Amino acid sequence: MVLQIPGSITASKVTSFKECGLAFRLSVIDKIPQPPTVWTIRGALAHSVLERLYFYFDPEDRTRSAAMKLVEEVWAEPCTNTLIAELRDVPIPQGAYESLLDDTKSLVLKDFEAEDPTAVEVLATELKLETKLGDTVLRGVIDRLDRNPDGTLTVTDYKTGKMPVQDQENERLTGVYFYALLCEQVLGERPTRVQLIYLKDATRIVSVPTEQVLRGLTSKTKAIWKAVCNACEREDFRPRPSRLCKFCCYQELCPAQGGSLSLLDAFRNSHRKSNSDSRTSNDLAWDGTQTYAI
Ligand code: SF4
Repeated sequence: MVLQIPGSITASKVTSFKECGLAFRLSVIDKIPQPPTVWTIRGALAHSVLERLYFYFDPEDRTRSAAMKLVEEVWAEPCTNTLIAELRDVPIPQGAYESLLDDTKSLVLKDFEAEDPTAVEVLATELKLETKLGDTVLRGVIDRLDRNPDGTLTVTDYKTGKMPVQDQENERLTGVYFYALLCEQVLGERPTRVQLIYLKDATRIVSVPTEQVLRGLTSKTKAIWKAVCNACEREDFRPRPSRLCKFCCYQELCPAQGGSLSLLDAFRNSHRKSNSDSRTSNDLAWDGTQTYAI
């Protein structure tokens, strides 16, 4: 059997394939959803709040109290309740559920330490872009696209996890470079700046997507796409054990963890059943904001 080649490539798929071929296959090709965690839900809530704050509010109205009202608004939405209800089946650290609302608030407030929201001119939030790259489709959703005072563009991506150690910093920037490439291809304008905002640490990592960087990224993405197609052809997605295994929901199917792919159908069915009425944390982000073309 030859596996179905994915319809498109995104920055997160590139990262996922590089991290572990088997986890990529199970998530992207077999489409077995990963259950939400308190951290993915908190991240989705914070993204949703910031996207609304920056798009709907005039710069001078982007205050801490407006942001806190938005957190309460998003928290009360039905899709948030649905997502949170799913946590009842997932083991979570003690107290994490109770502090979810407060943790989301403090994450959002950190953005005010990392930057001055009243000084940002926003063109779009949750901007979906896609273009052709060789024989595949390149897709991405940009958290925020800003117009700089000098007329150029900045791409912003919020991160709600831990900041990378220095030698992983370049790797983490791949996603925003990817978005810069999409801007160049679709909007005909290469951003002069990309930034990752690590909310927890109230820190920004800023970089310049030079022509050389984007050219390198294009070649790497094409090579990864070719590797994905070859792996589909040979049905050969290998596990790559790492520190990420302890967070992986596919351990039961992973030979490197004593599991077996022969359990795939049973695993998929049980998973479908438990997720039949549910949505993912990504769904929350999609519901919370619209797509705005420039
Ligand atoms: S447990 Fe580790 S090696 Fe196995 S699929 Fe998950 S991430 Fe890959």
